[in-house]
Amino acid sequence: SDSNGSLASESSVKIPTIKYTKLFINGEFVDSVSGKTFETMDPRTGEVIARVAEGDKEDVDLAVEAARAAFENGPWPRLPGSVCTLNRTLEKEFTERGRIMLKFADLIDQHVEELASLDTVNAGNLFGDGKIAGIPSVANSLRYYAGAADKIHGEVLKMSRDFHAYTLLEPIGVVGHIIPWNFPSTLFFTKVSPCLAAGCTMVVKPAEQTPLSAIYYAYLAKLAGVPDGVLNVITGFGQTAGAAISHHMDIDKVTFTGSTEVGREVMQAAAKSNLKQVSLELGGKSPLVIFDDADINMAVELALLGIFYNQGEICVASSRVYVQDGIYDEFVKKLKDEVKTWVVGDPFDPNVRQGPQVDKQQFYKVLTYIEHGKREGATLLTGGKPLGDKGYYIEPTVFTDVKEEMLIAKDEIFGPVMALMKFKTIEEAIKKANNSKYGLAAGIITKDLNVANTVSRSIRAGIIWINCYLAFDGDCPFGGYKMSGFGRELGLQGLHKYLHTKSVRRAEETAAM
Ligand code: NAD
Repeated sequence: SDSNGSLASESSVKIPTIKYTKLFINGEFVDSVSGKTFETMDPRTGEVIARVAEGDKEDVDLAVEAARAAFENGPWPRLPGSVCTLNRTLEKEFTERGRIMLKFADLIDQHVEELASLDTVNAGNLFGDGKIAGIPSVANSLRYYAGAADKIHGEVLKMSRDFHAYTLLEPIGVVGHIIPWNFPSTLFFTKVSPCLAAGCTMVVKPAEQTPLSAIYYAYLAKLAGVPDGVLNVITGFGQTAGAAISHHMDIDKVTFTGSTEVGREVMQAAAKSNLKQVSLELGGKSPLVIFDDADINMAVELALLGIFYNQGEICVASSRVYVQDGIYDEFVKKLKDEVKTWVVGDPFDPNVRQGPQVDKQQFYKVLTYIEHGKREGATLLTGGKPLGDKGYYIEPTVFTDVKEEMLIAKDEIFGPVMALMKFKTIEEAIKKANNSKYGLAAGIITKDLNVANTVSRSIRAGIIWINCYLAFDGDCPFGGYKMSGFGRELGLQGLHKYLHTKSVRRAEETAAM
């Protein structure tokens, strides 16, 4: 089965039993105050697979109350990162944060298949990749930050010899996390792991399309020994539960990953309420720039991966591909041949490389952009149509003859649609790559070190990949320039965004008062 019409659909993995469907507040699974629930779908079929508690403002209030109590009076913010005391009673009562996080990570490892399959039936993520990379890497993100939990310390400042001046790094407090649906597990832990290590307490709102794995993680956190109230999960919709977080008067920081439009609303809500801190990881329209000297097979493979992986539902997707004129024709020919080997179908099938779009709304949004592309005069090289008779599958679609001002070259489509364009000089490539309101990521393919250096320094984006694409590591900071947001997640910068710096000056006895 290839992308020309047919759909691969051999599914050998059993759909997991869905065990957890409630809100998780103060260490307990509870129904929403209103008693309401909402349907969650399998994008492979469009069928309902579970009903999940629908949290709203009252539920967010309860979760924030629990998180505030855990922050003010509970052990979590006060636990040492690791054991460092001879006081045995303290050691017994207060297990340290890092060790609990390591246990949480081990529990995830013990449930890898089940967790990966939840993201497959809820988000359409590839099961095989989730099992070997996606889920193990979230366990590793907990381990990375568990190792940092006992290295959070300030520094001694110089002030003057009459004063002893130093800084303390303190957890920021109660944090609200608002998460999108494209990689439910990865994006949950990108926020939760550093936030736990910092000693904060939190309320997490997963996307309404993909609530299942988040609730499961709440259960594993409890099993690992994360104290009640530290990690609360409220499933529900953006305009209600999400907005209740961004408008809350007792949340100290909100981290948001999602669209630029909603990011703007979250920032406004923060400004209008209690001026809570904000960090935003937003959309992108990332360029992949391929120079004449590139290894053309590698360039074709990276171009496909960059835009068709996870069916284009990746914020760093390489949706604009710029190819230098010397190899343009050959690249187009090879790309057209290679797309045929890119298998679309059931994400449980190990041969499949692209699954369904997350829901009906995204499915129609992508198809509408494809119609726009055709109407604006771009040439359809491959794809352009839905696939199969159920679920939300779309053919890998490539447009050539794309002009900078076309909608398909400007808007984030968040689907499997590549806009292919040509350039002559390095200056032209830089100018075109930067011609976007977004600045999340960029790729450069060349053997010339000078070209790679010049272009990577000239592109205004937070992430640059040279001769690779979608290469991730928990130690590499992640975040955007321009309207792709601000603040960096991952790495040690990702930990520091959950910490306040307090500067303390103590007068020595010698100080003239
Ligand atoms: P979205 O902005 O519609 O929703 C994201 C989250 O915000 C969901 O949990 C939703 O319920 C919530 N939300 C919606 N309206 C809200 C409101 N008024 N107040 C508070 N919360 C609200 O985004 P989406 O369509 O689910 O996700 C796709 C977008 O996310 C794309 O633009 C993509 O680029 C972006 N994204 C960015 C990154 C990144 O790291 N930069 C990663 C993944 C996705």
